Amino acid sequence: MIKALRGMRDILPPLSKKYLYFINTAQKLAQNYGFEYIQTPLLEETSLFKRSVGESSDIVGKEMYQFIDKGGNDVVLRPEGTAGVVRSFIEHKLDRQGKVFRFYYFGAMFRYERPQRGRFRQFYQFGVESFGEKSVYEDASLILLGKSILDRFHIPYRLKLNSLGCPNCLPPYKKELVKFLSSCEGICEDCKRRRELNPIRVLDCKNPNCQEIYKTAPKLKDFLCPECQEDFSKLQTLLKKEGVEFEIDENLVRGLDYYTKTAFEFVSEQLGAQNALIGGGRYDNLVEMLGGKPTPAVGFAIGIDRILELIEYEEGREGFYLGALDKEGVEVIFSLARKKREDSKVFLEYKPKSLKAHLKSADKLKVTTVGIVGEEELKSDTIWVKNLVTKKEEVIPLEKFLELG
Ligand code: AMP
Repeated sequence: MIKALRGMRDILPPLSKKYLYFINTAQKLAQNYGFEYIQTPLLEETSLFKRSVGESSDIVGKEMYQFIDKGGNDVVLRPEGTAGVVRSFIEHKLDRQGKVFRFYYFGAMFRYERPQRGRFRQFYQFGVESFGEKSVYEDASLILLGKSILDRFHIPYRLKLNSLGCPNCLPPYKKELVKFLSSCEGICEDCKRRRELNPIRVLDCKNPNCQEIYKTAPKLKDFLCPECQEDFSKLQTLLKKEGVEFEIDENLVRGLDYYTKTAFEFVSEQLGAQNALIGGGRYDNLVEMLGGKPTPAVGFAIGIDRILELIEYEEGREGFYLGALDKEGVEVIFSLARKKREDSKVFLEYKPKSLKAHLKSADKLKVTTVGIVGEEELKSDTIWVKNLVTKKEEVIPLEKFLELG
């Protein structure tokens, strides 16, 4: 038997219904915040991720589905959504328009990670990216959108915030940190590698021994320049005013190289080790790094697979069930269903059976209304109708059935 690849899964009903319910709700909320839908290819040139996500990240260093295509191009199945959206933003010269652009996307991402609960090799993200807005109100708006999506599904969370500084204040901090790290004994192998490639990433090491050592490390918050300090404090004020609870997490450095200033993460207590639901932040240098005009930007991505684990979704009664007591009746309901399906969901039973059997099936299918054609109805072009919610029963002309809501 051929099975799906490890870390990849089929999403069948009822999970697929939950997926669509999530997408519909999230995209409606994103649209309310001014975001428009963007779709970019699943395959991109490898260099796009090397230059954006960064060679020091786990994603580029270890996890990419990278191959040479038949034309000899070095390509990657996208491991995240931001880089492709930024590439598209520049390619279509939106960076030259001096306007604000807000996009949302959703779809599959691919990372060759060790599969575990909440971690897949093909997983799904819903993300938003906003370009051209320097104001910290935009960072706050995105966090409010993230909160609003989680609240809509009654998902409890903790919001972690940090500021990663900017090209003015981050390099002097990194220098101090490297100095500190070079004097550290006993840090893990991963941290030794990070120390060389991207030192601030040591701060989110999960090894308790390393964490103990880093307690005395220099703090980025002491190095923030006045502008970064002011933005970070304004962001906190805005969130507090809107009743958003958060905690400052100085170790929140995020795995990707392109973040500047605001970094945030929504985490859940109800998931296992893989507890991050939403990750995002500001990336004011990325557009320029990829060859575009300098453009401030901020975005986030939601891990849909993890959200689906936490959503309760009970489908309500909906639509119609059409059945017949004998073969001739099936001809009638077949035509009737075609017309009714122009505006309503109709389940059509091809097999004639007793009224009792039809009602039982209709109840299982959770429809609102049942329509049955028997011998009497056949003669008079009518249909017997029962509303399963109000329990009302009546016989009505076939044309009247088409008008039922
Ligand atoms: P990142 O792009 O790493 O910031 O991830 C953003 C969000 O995507 C995370 O908060 C997770 O919810 C989700 N995510 C990342 N990697 C995976 C994975 N391998 N499987 C499932 N969800 C993931």
